[in-house]
Amino acid sequence: MELPNLDLLTHVPQRWLEVAEKYLKAIPQVRARLDKETGAVLSHFEKRLKPYRGTLPAFERLPAQGRPREEVLRELEGLERREETRWKEGHVSGAVYHGAEDHIAFVNEVYALHSQSNPLHAELWPSATKFEAEVVAMTANMLGATEANAGLPPEQHICGSLSSGGTESIMLAIKTYRDWARETRGITRPEMVLPSSAHPAFDKAAHYFGVKSVRVPVGADYRADVAATRRALTRNTILLVGSAPSFPHGVIDPIAELSELARKRGLGFHTDACLGGFVLPWAKRLGYPVPPFDFQLPGVTTMSADTHKFGYAAKGTSVVLYRGLALRSHQYFTATEWPGGIYFSPTFSGSRPGGLIAAAWATLVTMGEAGYLEASRHILETAKALKEGIAAIPELHVLGDPLFVIAFGSKTLDIYKVMERMGARGWDLNGLHKPPAVHLCVTLRHTQPGVAERFLEDLRAAVAHVQANPGEKGTMAPVYGMAGTVPFRGVLSDLLKKYMDLLYKV
Ligand SMILES: *Cc1c(COP(=O)(O)O)cnc(C)c1O
Repeated sequence: MELPNLDLLTHVPQRWLEVAEKYLKAIPQVRARLDKETGAVLSHFEKRLKPYRGTLPAFERLPAQGRPREEVLRELEGLERREETRWKEGHVSGAVYHGAEDHIAFVNEVYALHSQSNPLHAELWPSATKFEAEVVAMTANMLGATEANAGLPPEQHICGSLSSGGTESIMLAIKTYRDWARETRGITRPEMVLPSSAHPAFDKAAHYFGVKSVRVPVGADYRADVAATRRALTRNTILLVGSAPSFPHGVIDPIAELSELARKRGLGFHTDACLGGFVLPWAKRLGYPVPPFDFQLPGVTTMSADTHKFGYAAKGTSVVLYRGLALRSHQYFTATEWPGGIYFSPTFSGSRPGGLIAAAWATLVTMGEAGYLEASRHILETAKALKEGIAAIPELHVLGDPLFVIAFGSKTLDIYKVMERMGARGWDLNGLHKPPAVHLCVTLRHTQPGVAERFLEDLRAAVAHVQANPGEKGTMAPVYGMAGTVPFRGVLSDLLKKYMDLLYKV
């Protein structure tokens, strides 16, 4: 897929482009050309996404008779073995954060014991609510609640909920602020101000809950720009956001300054510590430079921290925290008139997986402070070696000053081609854009002996290859390149929706 250089167009106001795009797409020839190009990109994806077609039985209808359990188990084992090799050997950015066999076996055993439990039925499974309350409390106290609560009555303490993941934690917080602002301030057209680097879950929340998302470009160090944030405030602003650290570049926003700005104006402030919540407290104790980011700052009113990332629990849990019970109560839902009885539910789901909550609890209490400290020590040491190794490659540079998510780009080479060459060597890195870069989120998988050395060796070889073959096009590199420069966002959005359709094809 070849695209002309559209750099010029990036300076045209977005609104004009949206109108231009609408009219352009209405021209049959343009439409046909777009469909053709989209089709070509998608058929490339389809081959990669559906490797089991033709090799495994596929089900579009229920089998008339149930298949034998043994046969199904063997099939699942085969799939797992095939798919685990890449992440197990540490070839993947993020994705699996612990991954040691004994740890996985333990978490699975806990899940198996509690797979039937559901905290929606608190009287049937009081263990599930005990686990949930304790996971929230342990996470809160790891993130400054002990200091923040000192001397305050219980209703002003840091509290929270367990959710299904970072996205739900963030969405719960935004919905809570929206309802809080409507009730206590009478704000009916709420806005939030957040750095361009904050996770798209905030835009998803904005989209779902009718909050305007005001994005502010980050500074030269890839951290949120405090002065620009101040300028973006309006009478309808209800909260500010900062990340600790941000997903793209792994840098920690100036949370102290941002949260103080919010506090002085009576606004909410959310620290997104989905990624760093279970690393930064230990990094700080290990002597790494970690600026304040948690409830020790009086302006921080909500936080998110993912148990299913560096908390090392099974996928499907995260913690959202609030300063005080009054704020959290705006998260809750109650129904008093339903013929099915009196109903209430604290988060988005009704029934919830008690087994996953038990697994999160069991992970936290078996890891303990010492376990998280050791894990963080290994991750941070490996990340430091990787960061220095990458910075030593003359064609590459590290973006910002990260701790354990290392983004790098190049002034002389197409970094997406480098990423593609790394892919050919088995490495699955995250492509970033605006500016073009890739990142590696360092996990315990990368702390295994030899992994970091192999990464750097392969990276040097990939850089050398791209340098020696400037004419080589690559398959995915142009798509990534396009995503960063194409001014018609609708075209890209349409493509992504078609991609999602593809996921649902048998
Ligand atoms: C992963 C992540 C999220 C979203 O979490 P999910 O569990 O994928 O929904 C939000 N913010 C940051 C900084 C993250 O790294």
